[in-house]
Amino acid sequence: MAIVTSDHDSVRAGKLSTLSWQKALKEAIRDPVELCRTLQLPAKFEIGAEQAAAEFPVFAPKDFVAKMEVGNPSDPLLRQVLPVDEELLLAPGYVSDPVGDLAAQKTPGLIQKYHGRALAITTGRCAVHCRYCFRREYPYAEGPRSHREFAPLLQTIAADSTIEEILLSGGDPLTVVDEGLSDLIQQLENIEHLRRLRIHTRLPIVIPQRVTDALLESLQRTQLVSLVVVHANHPAEIDCHVAAALQRIVEAGIPVLNQSVLLRGVNDCAKTLIKLSEKLINCRVMPYYLNQLDRVNGAAHFEVKVDVGKAIIAEMRTRLPGYAVPRYVQEHAGDQHKRPLA
Ligand code: SF4
Repeated sequence: MAIVTSDHDSVRAGKLSTLSWQKALKEAIRDPVELCRTLQLPAKFEIGAEQAAAEFPVFAPKDFVAKMEVGNPSDPLLRQVLPVDEELLLAPGYVSDPVGDLAAQKTPGLIQKYHGRALAITTGRCAVHCRYCFRREYPYAEGPRSHREFAPLLQTIAADSTIEEILLSGGDPLTVVDEGLSDLIQQLENIEHLRRLRIHTRLPIVIPQRVTDALLESLQRTQLVSLVVVHANHPAEIDCHVAAALQRIVEAGIPVLNQSVLLRGVNDCAKTLIKLSEKLINCRVMPYYLNQLDRVNGAAHFEVKVDVGKAIIAEMRTRLPGYAVPRYVQEHAGDQHKRPLA
């Protein structure tokens, strides 16, 4: 069954839509009913989707939606972006800030939990709204609203010579235009003790056009050692366009790692995660972390028991070389590192 728009049809046929990444962001689906209807879901899904989207809005790029199976509410990519009524249920142990981001803020927008590195909330904007996101309730409006408001954050980093690595996160730092990002990187480069720049992004997965020449040039030009950490959860997210985008980053000399979240109904079986690791490795992307779900409000229906996760990792070890098995970890607020689970 085909999705109705020509852009969707072209993606199914293996052609990337010709939209620029900014246009793809602009044209992303923001209306829960439109998402349900595009995928021809039964009408009962629309009510739950509208209610849950009032808490955390829908945002789904059309090329990402085009990879989903029409008429299948259990599609593993759809489950990641479709608001459902289960999000509205209160679950014991589920909170607004499960990993203690706010307690670890050094200054608005700068989080430091671990020795030697700190994380900048570069923007509150994302290219996709993942329903399980541990920052779905993060108060982005209280931090810098744009890179032009970063002076206090940069001063805080400059004043602490133990910080050698800066993570650009968010939100998604690659929603910032190339010029702004390049400007920010140059300012970071001027901080003498900074050595490494790590960019955490889902954009090359959901809008692969984002891997522009200008982006790669910025990352190559900087004297900081650059790394990119992408976020894919299911092998169906990596089509030929995403693979090409990932390979372009690698070919520019920038290591690319992937982190996933273990999600019920998305990737909670060894076969799926083995396929994901194989696809990543074939793009020269290293599987880095498989994260146990962070217990954020609204995400309880995604939780997979740790014993199940351990069994999946055990099976992955029998099928893959060691470098292709991600580290299964869990973050606990206040810890000095993520806890290995297997
Ligand atoms: S892209 Fe990252 S920050 Fe944005 S909603 Fe998804 S998991 Fe959260």
